[in-house]
Parts: sequence; structure tokens; C-alpha cells
Amino acid sequence: MLFKASTMEHFVIVLFLTFFALEFLVEFVLNELNIRYVSRKGANAELPDLLAGKISSEDYRKSVEYTLAKGRFERWASIYGAVVALVILFGGVLPFLDRLSRDLGGRFPPGLKAVGIIFCLGVALTFSLLSLPVGLYSTFVLEERFGFNKSTLRLYLIDKLKGLLVSLVIGIPFLFGVLYLMEESGPYWWLWAFFFILAFQLLMVMIYPTLIAPLFNKFSPLKAGELRERILALAERVGFKTSGIYTMDGSKRSAHSNAYFTGLGKAKRIVLFDTLLEQMTVEQGLAVLAHEIGHYKMKHIRKMLIVQGIFLFAGLYILSLLIGYEPLFRAFGLMPSSHAALVLLGLISGSFTFYLTPLMNRLSRKHEYEADRFSVKTLEDSKPMEEALLNLTVKNLSNLTPHPWYSGYHYSHPTTAERIRALREEAARLGVS
Ligand SMILES: [Zn+2]
Repeated sequence: MLFKASTMEHFVIVLFLTFFALEFLVEFVLNELNIRYVSRKGANAELPDLLAGKISSEDYRKSVEYTLAKGRFERWASIYGAVVALVILFGGVLPFLDRLSRDLGGRFPPGLKAVGIIFCLGVALTFSLLSLPVGLYSTFVLEERFGFNKSTLRLYLIDKLKGLLVSLVIGIPFLFGVLYLMEESGPYWWLWAFFFILAFQLLMVMIYPTLIAPLFNKFSPLKAGELRERILALAERVGFKTSGIYTMDGSKRSAHSNAYFTGLGKAKRIVLFDTLLEQMTVEQGLAVLAHEIGHYKMKHIRKMLIVQGIFLFAGLYILSLLIGYEPLFRAFGLMPSSHAALVLLGLISGSFTFYLTPLMNRLSRKHEYEADRFSVKTLEDSKPMEEALLNLTVKNLSNLTPHPWYSGYHYSHPTTAERIRALREEAARLGVS
């Protein structure tokens, strides 16, 4: 019996390490391919045809340097990340945190699920502390060197602290709900947990724009002026409630510029970074706004939530099958428990599901193409969106020539050249300029 159990633990460890190594290898090799590809293109000044003459050789050179610096950093960050994950999984950290949380949480009535909550939060805190050096280097060395960083160490640490408080306020009731359902709701706990998590996720999507994001940034209605007038007219024309358009003080932390659409129902918002508005003409700003309204019109947030819901359903069902399998817990030095099952799901499932990353990114890219086409159709012109994209690409020093496998795997947005080609095709199809 004893022998058999240890054989099964062995099997769990080997299986996990195989998938873990595979994931690491795939991501490492993709990064290396991308570094080589970009530096070769850069050395030969090989811009995609569509971008030739639109981007100065100086801007191109800078974007190559920035991409290569990020790629080289990613090389070390990924090794560091893998070591951290292995130390936490096999270096006695989990059993230590389990004992600690039983000591601390044991003082509370069992109905409060304090042991489980403390364990899950302890693991999360360990991870975020260990990832601090990577974040600090990336912000204050890498981004700083290319002039993007506008944050101070003080602001950075305040952000982290605020993030921690927010995760406590949200995480404690969330973990309580999940652990309660796992332990008290019978054999179909996973189904109840599924509905609970889904409802929680919806709630988060609703409250994020109005309650959470404002803790970190200032959101103000668009300033009066030509852009505002034209945006209001455009929004009215396509049926978007204009009270949801805001600018955000992104320049507080970074010179990178962006725009996004967020929220559901009444809480929906389009957010334009102040850095974006400074860089763009009115026409370009309108094109970006039309793109974001496109996301809303085509219900992209809802579609993403449905796909994530399907994954969640499958994940919880698989967890319900594995939760009684002792060797799974013993392999990582843990006793079977709901909280250990939750944490193991969080820590090891990624190595088995990373194949889904390129599929999710593919769906996201499809949505980006749709929103771009919406912009062309709405403005009856593809030029402003094209110019806005070029503008964003140059200002953010985006990679103009990613390795196709790298962008296929990692990119949630098509490359600039791909988007420009699609914009022109749509313009030709509609018979506009
Ligand atoms: Zn978009």
C-alpha cells in the first residue's frame, strides 16, 4: 500500500514536470526565435512593405532596440519565474504555509474557513513578493531607459499596497464563498461553485470601472472642444451612451498610450489615456473611439466572458474528479483539503492549459479586426484609423516585425502591418477611401 502510493506520487510529479518543462521550453524558444528574427530584420532594415515610408528609420531603429531589450530581459525573467514556481511547489513552501495557516486559522471558528483563506492568500502573497524584483527592474530599468517610465518608487509601492488591500477586500469573501460551497454543498459543489464564480466575475466586471479603477487613476469626462463635440455626434449616430466616455491620467505612470472599452450594461466605459489624446489629431482620436465602440457593438466582452465560463466549467469539473485523489496532494507535500485543491489548481493547471493561450489570443485578434472594420464603416474612411495605429506604434515603440509564431502565440492584437492591410481591404470592399 505504502509502496503503491509513493509510485502514484512519483507519477504525478513526473507528469507535472514534463508539462511544466514543455511549457517553459515552448515559451523560451518562441522568445529566442523572436529576438533573432527582429535583430535580423533590424540589421537589414527590412520593414514590412505596408510600413515602408510611413515610419522613419530612426523610429524603426528605436523600436528594434526596445524589442530586443525586452526579449533579453524576458529570457532571464522566465528562468527566474520557473525557479520561483519550482521552489514554491517542491521546496517545502506549501507545507510550511499549510502548517502556518492551520496554526493561525485554527483560532477562528471552523465555519469561517479561516485556515483555507489564510493558506490561499499566503500562497498569493508569496508569489507577488517574489515577483517584485522582476516588476521593479522592468519599470525602473527597462522602461526607464527608453523614456517610458513616469512612476516613482513611492507611487509604485503605494500601487502595490493598494492592490494588496483591494485583493484582501475582494479575495476574502470570494475565497470564503468558494471554500464554503466546496465543503458544504454536497457532491455537486463544483456546479454551485461554477455559478458562484461566474456571478462574482460578472459583479467584478460591473464594479471595476466605477469602484476599482478610480482607486489607481483619475477619470475625467472629456474636455470641451472639437474632439468632444465630434465624439458626442459620432456616439449618438451609432447609438452609444456618451456619458461613458472618459480620459484617464495614464501619464502618471507611463508614457505608453492606449484606449480601452470595459464594463457591462450601465457600467460600460470607454477610456482614452491622456497620453493618447496628446499624440493624436481629432480625426485619429475619433477613429480610435469608433474602434472601441465597435467592441461594444459586437459584444466582445460578453463573448470573452462566455468562453472563459466554458473553461471555468471544465476546470471545476476536472477538479471535482481529482479532489479525492490523494497522491496529487502528497506529491506536493500537502494533505487533501479544499484549499490545497484550489491552490494546486491555480499553480499547476497553467502547465496543462497553456495550449489554449494562442487560441484565446486568436479570438481576441478576430475581435480587433472586427472593431477596426467597424471604425472604417462608421467613419467611411480607413485613413484615420491607419494613421492612429501608426502613431500608437511609433509612440509605443511596438515591435514592427515580430516572428510570426511569436505573435501568433502571444499577441492579443494583430500586428500593425496586418491591421493596416485589413483596414485597406475593408475600405476597398466598402468602396470608401
Ligand atoms: Zn481593440
